[in-house]
Amino acid sequence: MIINHVEAKSIITKSKLPDADYVINPYIGCNHGCVYCYAEFMSRFTGHGNEKWGDFMDIKEGYPLPRPQNLEGRCILFGSATDPYNPLEKKYQKTRELLKYFAGNKTKIKVEILTKSALVKRDIDLLTQIPNVRVGISISTTDADFARSIERHAPSPQERLDTMRILSEAGIAVYAFISPIFPLFSDWRAVATEAKKYAREICLENLNLRGGYKKRVLDLIRKKFPEKYRDFEDVYNSKEAFRIYWTNEAKAIEKFLKGKKYKLYFFHGKIKKP
Ligand code: SF4
Repeated sequence: MIINHVEAKSIITKSKLPDADYVINPYIGCNHGCVYCYAEFMSRFTGHGNEKWGDFMDIKEGYPLPRPQNLEGRCILFGSATDPYNPLEKKYQKTRELLKYFAGNKTKIKVEILTKSALVKRDIDLLTQIPNVRVGISISTTDADFARSIERHAPSPQERLDTMRILSEAGIAVYAFISPIFPLFSDWRAVATEAKKYAREICLENLNLRGGYKKRVLDLIRKKFPEKYRDFEDVYNSKEAFRIYWTNEAKAIEKFLKGKKYKLYFFHGKIKKP
């Protein structure tokens, strides 16, 4: 792992994501090792050329803090392109530093954190001081072996469910982000059943396969789960097959979570709860 300290002109960026006005990524890079990582394109845009995503971490330094009066009522998401609680956060505490700042500003800024990591528990003392905070825990499956196959260095599903429980017991609004749902593998019913005990909302996103990681994901399924490969690949064989598969899954989810607070981010957010 190559660790760099980089001067950053700003720590906050306007967002095009459906539910966030701004994003904050205190680090560039991520070492959870997800086979489906969509953020690896960031290597090229951040001066890392051919360095492999996961082999480096840039720690942002020297940025001015955002002005709270400009952010009143806005939603700021930590972790759109990296995990704000990646293992380096334990030592460098860049996310914690920023949370201290938001905890000290009693404004109506909405702070949202998305992570796979149990390390977020360390900051319960600050999170409970931020009036409009929500923590999302990403989890794709309850199957620890499958999780290890697709997210090599990330905390286990059980650790993530425990994290949801502990945050929720501390009075923090928690949501489960069941993502990405792998066709034939992600037991989203089981994840939702567990997560519902602690999460105020369940968000679900399908696995999209495009760009460089498509081949990587297909290779992994072919090598490790050959018996399921053909059916898995079929989902991604044509736009029509993809649409039919996920439309049916969306209907099943709707039925399963009827009466619960949930949101679908299938087809890049184009299907939402009716
Ligand atoms: S946690 Fe997100 S950014 Fe990190 S490797 Fe996984 S998908 Fe990529």
